[in-house]
Amino acid sequence: LERRARIAEKLAAVGTLSAGLAHEIRNPLNAASLQLQLLERRIKRMSDEPKLTEPVGMVQRELSRLSHLVEDFLRFARPADLYMRRFDATAMLKTVVRLQVPEAERLGIELLSELPRTPLYVNGDREKLQQVVINVVRNAMEALEHRGGLIVTSLAWAEGGMVRLRVRDNGPGIPEEILQRIFEPFFSTKPMGTGLGMAICHSLVQQHGGAIRVRCDEGTQVDILLPASTG
Ligand code: ADP
Ligand code: MG
Repeated sequence: LERRARIAEKLAAVGTLSAGLAHEIRNPLNAASLQLQLLERRIKRMSDEPKLTEPVGMVQRELSRLSHLVEDFLRFARPADLYMRRFDATAMLKTVVRLQVPEAERLGIELLSELPRTPLYVNGDREKLQQVVINVVRNAMEALEHRGGLIVTSLAWAEGGMVRLRVRDNGPGIPEEILQRIFEPFFSTKPMGTGLGMAICHSLVQQHGGAIRVRCDEGTQVDILLPASTG
């Protein structure tokens, strides 16, 4: 419970920090882009020398990349407004697998799914929950990245008013001391990891009245439990 409180506290801090970031980074970034556009026009009036125009174009692209990055980060860190409706969770899983196939092929990973033919209706925000499954599948693929030829399996079924979505990988698994901290914001064992993936999954699934469980035996198994739609 104390760990839960620590996680909640950190998540709240992320929210506050990101709201601060919105003002601290967005405004000067927009101002810089505007000034650069002015500069670009003036330069073009004076000369079409590539030595002058090319670097301006490059800075413009970099600024726009930065701006996208900030927007993406904010979208993630902001407490989510859920748009609840009834949707088919198996169709969503299929979509996720389809979206990840190119990356999986690039890494030499085989994606398998054993999904029921009948729809499994869930009540929730489809896009947010799709992001949850994507985060989990990407973690599985990242765990397999350097091993090649391994398998990520996704399954789904209904049980006692809940729908269970399962993503398995046969990667190295997760040592107990890491498993303890897997939902902590900014906790990552990857050199380029943000450590936000599982934290966001946890908070989104909880906001839906669901649960997320991680188990390791051979590889890793992540179960996402979501309330089934009754309507
Ligand atoms: P990130 O992916 O940016 O590191 P996450 O919150 O998604 O952050 O995951 C936190 C950590 O949990 C990862 O750094 C990794 O150590 C561990 N982890 C998550 N999923 C798996 C998995 N399927 N296999 C092995 N380790 C995992
Ligand atoms: Mg991740």
